[in-house]
Amino acid sequence: MLHDAHGLWIADAGSPEVLAALEGDHSADVVVVGGGFTGLWTAWHVLAAEPDADVVVLEGGRCGHGPSGRNGGFVTGMDLSLPALREESGDAAAEAWVAAARETVDAVGEWCETEGVDAWYRKGGELVVSTAPAQDGGVGVEAIDGTNVLACSADEARGHCRSPVFRAGVFVPAAATVHPARLAFGLRERLLARGARIYEGSRVTGLRPVPEGLSVRTASGQVRARAAVFAVCASSGTLKPLRNRLTVSSSHIVCTEPVPDVIEQLGWDGGEAITDGRALLHYTRTTRDGRIVFGWAGGRMAAGARPGGRMEIDPGVVGQVGRDLVRMFPQLEGRAIAHAWGGPIDVSPTHRPAIVGVRGLSAWAAFGYTGNGVGPSHLFGRALAALALDRRDPVTRLPFVDPPPKRVPPEPLRVAGATVIRRALIRKEAAEEAGRRPDPVTAGIAAVPRLLGLHIVR
Ligand SMILES: Cc1cc2nc3c(=O)[nH]c(=O)nc-3n(C[C@H](O)[C@H](O)[C@H](O)COP(=O)(O)OP(=O)(O)OC[C@H]3O[C@@H](n4cnc5c(N)ncnc54)[C@H](O)[C@@H]3O)c2cc1C
Repeated sequence: MLHDAHGLWIADAGSPEVLAALEGDHSADVVVVGGGFTGLWTAWHVLAAEPDADVVVLEGGRCGHGPSGRNGGFVTGMDLSLPALREESGDAAAEAWVAAARETVDAVGEWCETEGVDAWYRKGGELVVSTAPAQDGGVGVEAIDGTNVLACSADEARGHCRSPVFRAGVFVPAAATVHPARLAFGLRERLLARGARIYEGSRVTGLRPVPEGLSVRTASGQVRARAAVFAVCASSGTLKPLRNRLTVSSSHIVCTEPVPDVIEQLGWDGGEAITDGRALLHYTRTTRDGRIVFGWAGGRMAAGARPGGRMEIDPGVVGQVGRDLVRMFPQLEGRAIAHAWGGPIDVSPTHRPAIVGVRGLSAWAAFGYTGNGVGPSHLFGRALAALALDRRDPVTRLPFVDPPPKRVPPEPLRVAGATVIRRALIRKEAAEEAGRRPDPVTAGIAAVPRLLGLHIVR
């Protein structure tokens, strides 16, 4: 098995040549920090609104080499969050957000079509399915009023994919899958063609006000601009205003050798994205070249919300993911896992992403996708572009822009507490899947985040 922090997707998409780093003083209308989906879509939407705008993207490493190029490729909306959003923001605002997020799922496919980017976009819907009696309540087995979330019996769930552990669940038609690296590299290439200036190996280390607006600095240069957008995802905790606004956990993926025969036996021919009902959830999909990709959001927590190290690749976690894969698909027993990789997840305490303004400056930061950023980053890019261009519109009035702050405990309490809770959740969910009751101490610790109204893992 090839353990590689960048994973199959990036190797398979043929990583493009590295772009030069920023050198010296530059000016721009908008400077975007971070070359993942959020940053790249922001740049795209700025240029869509103002084709002559001067846009600079500063990427610390290489565009699309972060989580954006190596995730599970689920393009999902917010339909399943509607009940919670209604409680938080009221019916009208919640429904507007869900409708905008749903449009995004189609918008990504339309963009690929129009721009001629073959990112393997396939709109096969999402099945959220219980795989143990204890998950039955969690996945919801009812249609959600005001969305197109459909209830799904165990037979119907197995009609999508014949896993022996599938029980009832829900099916969300407004969901798709992509090859994430192909999408990220395609977006980078189309931006360069449109005149965006992208610098790689250009880690931003500072932001300060200047007469023209603001200046962002790297080790070897600076960009003065009217507005800045910070789209650094799991590194957001290193930005002072966001220090206690997120935790960073990790998610790991294994990918099989091509197994078209197994996919056929499973009857899994609709391209559905599938997740189970765990708190530390499993997510799985097929690929165009006949593989099964299977991920688990149960990786370790990062101290100080800093990505790196075992957030990127954790052999112990990979071993667990491989065993979990065979529980869901016993037909894969004896088949090879060809690749394994991981990456950091920026977990928001509300489970929902947000855009926050930097006080006194024309600067905004987006964070907190909590493992669901592929679709939402397109919508956030639209909102960030409108904010940077000072063109407020209905999207910038959606409740994810400057929501009331919700904080997580400071370090070292945060990583210590989150680690204890993660371990309890692992024990609890393993016991439930094995048909046992978790011991009362484990169940009590695992319930702490819910009792505090916090999410510390995806
Ligand atoms: C294993 C895994 C599986 C996932 N599966 C899914 C899925 O199936 N569906 C889904 O919707 N989401 C999934 N996610 C989450 C999804 O990948 C993210 O939400 C999304 O990619 C976030 O995009 P982004 O542009 O905000 O961040 P990123 O892709 O992390 O991009 C941020 C960029 O900022 C750069 N950067 C950081 N600091 C600086 C700095 N100081 N200066 C300059 N640049 C900097 C980084 O190098 C990086 O390239 C998954 C994540 C992981 C790790």
